[in-house]
Amino acid sequence: MKKHNFNPGPAILPEYAINETIAAMKDFAGTGLSILEVSHRSKEFEAVVNETVALFKEVMNIPEGYAVILVGGGASTQFFHVPYNLLEKKAAYLVTGEWATRAYKEAKLFGEVEVVASSEDKKFTYIPKDYTIPADADYFHITTNNTIFGTEILHDIDSPVPLVADMSSDICSRPVDVSKYGLIYAGAQKNIGAAGLTVVIVKESLLGKVSRPLPTMVDYRTHIKNNSLFNTPPVLNVFVTMMTLRWIKEIGGLTEIEKRNKAKAELIYNEIDRNKCFVGTVVKEDRSRMNACFVMAPGYEQYEEEFAKFAASRGMVGIKGHRSVGGFRASMYNALPLESVQALVDCMQEFEASH
Ligand SMILES: *Cc1c(COP(=O)(O)O)cnc(C)c1O
Repeated sequence: MKKHNFNPGPAILPEYAINETIAAMKDFAGTGLSILEVSHRSKEFEAVVNETVALFKEVMNIPEGYAVILVGGGASTQFFHVPYNLLEKKAAYLVTGEWATRAYKEAKLFGEVEVVASSEDKKFTYIPKDYTIPADADYFHITTNNTIFGTEILHDIDSPVPLVADMSSDICSRPVDVSKYGLIYAGAQKNIGAAGLTVVIVKESLLGKVSRPLPTMVDYRTHIKNNSLFNTPPVLNVFVTMMTLRWIKEIGGLTEIEKRNKAKAELIYNEIDRNKCFVGTVVKEDRSRMNACFVMAPGYEQYEEEFAKFAASRGMVGIKGHRSVGGFRASMYNALPLESVQALVDCMQEFEASH
C-alpha cells in the first residue's frame, strides 16, 4: 500500500533526492567509490559544497554580502551559536512555541534577553502581533514556523535591529526577502534534506563585533573562510540537500513551491473546518502551512484512537500530534504531494460519514 508520509521531521524527501543519494552511495561522481568513502577535500566533493551553496543563493535569491555555511549540530546548536556570535549586551526574542522557548533559554547564558512578546498564555496557539522591538537590542530572534503547535509567521517582519530567524521547519517553503534578515538558520531534516546538516545564511557585516573570545568551530567566520570545509562536514547530508535544492529549482523554484504549499494547506484546513468530527487548535489567521494541528471535535473525543487506526490502515504515516498538544498533526513539507493531503481528507470524510 502507498504510504502518505506526514512525519514531522525527519520527514518526506523528493524521490529524486532519495534515488540520486542511493546512486552516490554506490558510485559517487564517477569515482567508483561511495560518497561515504571519499575525502571531503576531493575536487568531487568540493563541487557538491559549491553547488549546494550556489543553489541556496539562487533558489532563495540571497543578496550580495551574505554567506551560506553548511555545518553539523542541528538547529539546537544554533540556539547558542547565534548569541555566542551576536549578543554583546542584549537580545530580543519573540516566544511563539517550544523551539522559540529553547532558543531564548540558551541566549540567556550570554547576556540580557528581553522577551518582547509570548503566546504561552494561550498555549502557543497564536502569533503575538502587538509588540515593540527594542532599538538597543543586538538582534531580534523569531521562529518563523511553530512546528509543534502549528502557527507560522508568513511575512517578512520589519525590524529596526538585525532579524534572526530559526526557519528549520519552513525554509524554502515560500519566497522570502532575505535582505530583511541578518541571519537565517535551519536544520535540514524538515524541508531541505536529512538530519545532521544545518544551513546558516548570515550577513557578513554583523560578524566580529562581540568582545568575548569565540571557539574556532563556533565562530561563523571560520566556516565562511574555509568554504564550510574547516572540518569534515556531514558529507552525505550535504549531498541530499544539494539534490533537494536541484529538485526545487527544477519544478519552478519557491514561487511554485509556495503555490503547492498553499493548495495543500487550503485543502486540509477547509476539511478541518467543514468536518463535524474535527476541530483546529490554533487561531485561523496564524495557521501554519507546514504543520496542520487538529483534534477531535467536542462530542467525538472518544473516537481519537479509532481515527488514528483507520487513517493508518489507509497508509497515513506520522499524523499523531506532538505529546504536548495531542490529537493530530499533518506535516506537509515541500516534498509532500497534494494527493497525500487528498488521501487524508478522504479518510476524514469517510470517518465522518460513519460516525
Ligand atoms: C525541529 C526544529 C528544531 C530542532 O532541530 P534539530 O536539528 O533537531 O536541533 C529547531 N527549531 C525548529 C523550528 C524546529 O522545527
